[in-house]
Amino acid sequence: MSCCDTSGLLPVSDAISNLINATTPLTEMEYVSLANALNRVIAKDIYSPLPIPPFANSAMDGYALHTDDLIHSFTLKLKGKALAGQPFDGILEKGECIRIMTGAKIPKGANAVIMQEETQEKEDKVTFLASAKINQNIRPLGDDIKKDELVVSKGTLLTPRDVPLLATLGIDQIPVYKKPTVAFFSTGDELRAVGETLSQGEIYDSNRYTIRAMLEKMNCDYIDLGVIPDDPDKLKATFIHASEHADVIITSGGVSVGEADFTKDILKQTGTVDFWKLAIKPGKPFAFGRVNNALFCGLPGNPVSVLVTFHILVEPLLARLSGHTLWQAPVQLKAKAETEFKKSPGRTDYQRAIYRIDKNNQLYVSTTGNQGSGAFSSLSKANCFAVLEQERGHVAIGEEIVISLFSTTLN
Ligand code: AMP
Ligand code: MG
Repeated sequence: MSCCDTSGLLPVSDAISNLINATTPLTEMEYVSLANALNRVIAKDIYSPLPIPPFANSAMDGYALHTDDLIHSFTLKLKGKALAGQPFDGILEKGECIRIMTGAKIPKGANAVIMQEETQEKEDKVTFLASAKINQNIRPLGDDIKKDELVVSKGTLLTPRDVPLLATLGIDQIPVYKKPTVAFFSTGDELRAVGETLSQGEIYDSNRYTIRAMLEKMNCDYIDLGVIPDDPDKLKATFIHASEHADVIITSGGVSVGEADFTKDILKQTGTVDFWKLAIKPGKPFAFGRVNNALFCGLPGNPVSVLVTFHILVEPLLARLSGHTLWQAPVQLKAKAETEFKKSPGRTDYQRAIYRIDKNNQLYVSTTGNQGSGAFSSLSKANCFAVLEQERGHVAIGEEIVISLFSTTLN
């Protein structure tokens, strides 16, 4: 592991591997109804109980017939009607056709459907203006999905693309992993809850809103433990309390080297601690460890650092814990710098940036400006991160840089 590079900072990719390696996926499962299954992680491979379509049916409004019958004459006798949900019960005999609507079962004896626009119906006779190929306009049984085929694998997060698939198969009870429970709190004597009045030197606690929003996007259950002052005894009691009720504890603030930064010491007293100075900007100090059976992530206090470290480090951890084995890191693309990006070598920067695509499909990216780790307004303006490599320096206009698109958690 390259934890001991010259600057002594742990590279981001190593920190992610450490977090992943320390996380054991939750295995407890439950059944939920399909209506409540969105964003849950599938706990068992799901096989199709039936073929889809479950019967051969018409892809068009028109007439069902046997192609051999058109060899002798283009006019056939109209025998009856088949609608979706109202099949034609009889058998098609030689020289006959059936009026058929989209989704209706193909009657016995028919092997093609000719669309209405290519026909003329007169009294009980239909004349066909075009010939037909075998299976034309027929959706065959099992054409989309075979019976017993694997349709959704274990480890899949159910999206709006999967839910209708399970509905099509008539599956109502869905095996999913239990959601992780995450307890979180902010630390800092200066913090007031939104809605309270600020006194001298105080600010509003925004980090709990960041963490809560991200946890909602990650579909975790959570316990909001509020703001805990910089008081070692209170912090200690909260660490223990959180560990008794949650799979993961997330805190913000107090992980640096200031006089009121107690997180690391208390983690040491109540559990085990891995403290890293990360080669990431924003978000250098990060405490990771365990209190009893709960994983512990101590995020920095600065609001932008909280969002960035949650996104880069905590998201993969929560995905692993949730059993979401098909989780993917955000998409990264190459773009041309339209503005300068200030940077010094030593850390990987996640700078707030705005990409655009010109009419030739060329990607460009510009900075949002102020990259201070407390400057949250630039996050609202951004639509991507410019990911500037650890050893890279100042970026000039026209240079190529990697951008990381905002994933669903940030959008
Ligand atoms: P700390 O790491 O505790 O020294 O905090 C670093 C900076 O982030 C300080 O300016 C804090 O006031 C600020 N900060 C810490 N926690 C929060 C929070 N929950 N909401 C907004 N700002 C915070
Ligand atoms: Mg603090």
